[in-house]
Amino acid sequence: MIKIGPKGAAPDILTSRGAALAAAHCAAYDLEPAAYQVSRKAGGKEFGFDDNVYAHSTVKGALERVQHGKCCYCEVFIPKPYAFGHVEHWRPKSWSQQAKGRPQIRPGYYWMAYDWDNLFLSCTFCNSSNKGNQFPLEAANARARDHHHRVSVERPLLLRPDGPDDPRDHIGFRRETPFGRTPEGRKTVEVLGLDRIDHVKRQRKLAKLIVYHNKIVKHHGDRSPLAAEVVGEARAAWAAAIQPDAPFSAMALAYLEAHPLP
Ligand SMILES: [Zn+2]
Repeated sequence: MIKIGPKGAAPDILTSRGAALAAAHCAAYDLEPAAYQVSRKAGGKEFGFDDNVYAHSTVKGALERVQHGKCCYCEVFIPKPYAFGHVEHWRPKSWSQQAKGRPQIRPGYYWMAYDWDNLFLSCTFCNSSNKGNQFPLEAANARARDHHHRVSVERPLLLRPDGPDDPRDHIGFRRETPFGRTPEGRKTVEVLGLDRIDHVKRQRKLAKLIVYHNKIVKHHGDRSPLAAEVVGEARAAWAAAIQPDAPFSAMALAYLEAHPLP
């Protein structure tokens, strides 16, 4: 995970139709707040959200540009075309929970369903398979339960992809495997399954980079044209791998810090 952004101005669809839809949700909630605090199955009411708005092509396009087409959490390239499910609500819109298996807290952050600050692109492994509706807070009782409460009093344990903190200060790597250095880092790795063995593309990327690293070390100082060519190619591969547009750049940066090139 790397720090992305700044995201820039919100796409018009969010500030026009999205803002109107959010205002309608807030008005509906105020008429019967208790109804939205239980599921439809249990006799309550649930908001319907318009994916033609929060996952509008202009929203996906703007997120693709700022995130270089990568998942905001694990840095894998997300294959196109993007589905609406690739648009991640950092604060869950329908309901939330402190951890998997813990009670469903209803409603979710419905007033932020079309909020540019709350939207990112995420792969289905991070978003659907792992995070789901989890939004862990340091103090669960500080959770903003409706639009009358301020989210600024919350202390989320899930790192925000666009800061203010740099995720790299919270998450380190042992070779290709991330680990948390701080409570936020540990919880973020756990919630997203960032350390699961399923991240095979990340493993393959490091394996390739290590081959290049070994070539640089082996041929360092060799002035022959062939060695210079091999080293040049390897250095170029490493230079590209640590750029923000490269998949798994946080892993590559961490490896390079632990194993500096000669
Ligand atoms: Zn991901």
